[in-house]
Amino acid sequence: MLEIHELTRSFGDRLAVDHVSFQVPPGQLTGFVGANGAGKTTTMRMVMGLLAPTSGSVTWQGAPIVDEVRRGIGYMPEERGLYPKQQVLDQLVHMARLRGMPAGAARAEATELLGAFGLGERTKDKLEKLSLGNQQRVQVTAALMASPMALILDEPFSGLDPMAVDEMADQLRARAASGVPVLFSSHQLDLVDRLCDGLVILAGGRVVAQGTRTELESRGRLLHRLVTDSDAGWVRDLAGVTVVDVDGNRALLELAKPGLVDRVLAEAMARGSVRELAEVRPTLSEIYREVAA
Ligand code: ATP
Repeated sequence: MLEIHELTRSFGDRLAVDHVSFQVPPGQLTGFVGANGAGKTTTMRMVMGLLAPTSGSVTWQGAPIVDEVRRGIGYMPEERGLYPKQQVLDQLVHMARLRGMPAGAARAEATELLGAFGLGERTKDKLEKLSLGNQQRVQVTAALMASPMALILDEPFSGLDPMAVDEMADQLRARAASGVPVLFSSHQLDLVDRLCDGLVILAGGRVVAQGTRTELESRGRLLHRLVTDSDAGWVRDLAGVTVVDVDGNRALLELAKPGLVDRVLAEAMARGSVRELAEVRPTLSEIYREVAA
């Protein structure tokens, strides 16, 4: 488990990261979201020891993180780290060797991962000859090499086409399932919503919400969608029901207490057929807008 305790970083009199604390547990994907300038990259760079914190600490398995542990973390920096003029396969092998992998095994793993990302034919190309999205795939491959004990990826999905997003998501899920803590930042909230078990939302350098999807959902208001076979305007007269929206035979309702759902159903059935009465959970985008505004 990777734990971030009260991490703080100022640049001059600007507080970029302000007492940020959260955990990246093994076996799950943790999404790190927040507006431009919220402090995600600065936090990740402090975890990786590339930037000294003003205060606070990072622990790995309960002990202060040291460089030897950091070398075992697969990190994809925002500024990307590979050389445009070097061959794709050669530099992946070189990087894995720096992390202690024998050359033959590194070559085999790099070839397999590049194949999984659809780059099996491009291994001998210079990185700069690849499209930006394909370069991005190579950058992520570099982080995945040599069995990293944790993954910290700064916007690994940016610039990828939908197929590449799916391939990358599969790779990250597989790593998480094998017990690796995975932290990644992203502005693609629908993707984070689909992929992540845990979420950390940063705004103005502070954690404004964190938890599992279910924990965060319970912060938003729970609504009910009713679809009948006739006009649903009668819902306005129901005690304890706030009508968020009514449009013909469809209504979106907020109930003062959970038991009222039976009352709504009985009233609707007394007036005709009920096509749907379902809970509507807030989307991650809605939760995000609520807490990060
Ligand atoms: P984005 O989504 O745009 O990548 P972010 O959440 O990663 O944003 P950071 O890059 O961590 O945000 O930046 C947080 C704040 O710290 C910003 O106000 C930024 O201008 C400031 N900052 C970051 N690095 C430095 C630096 N080296 N010197 C001065 N200010 C910095």
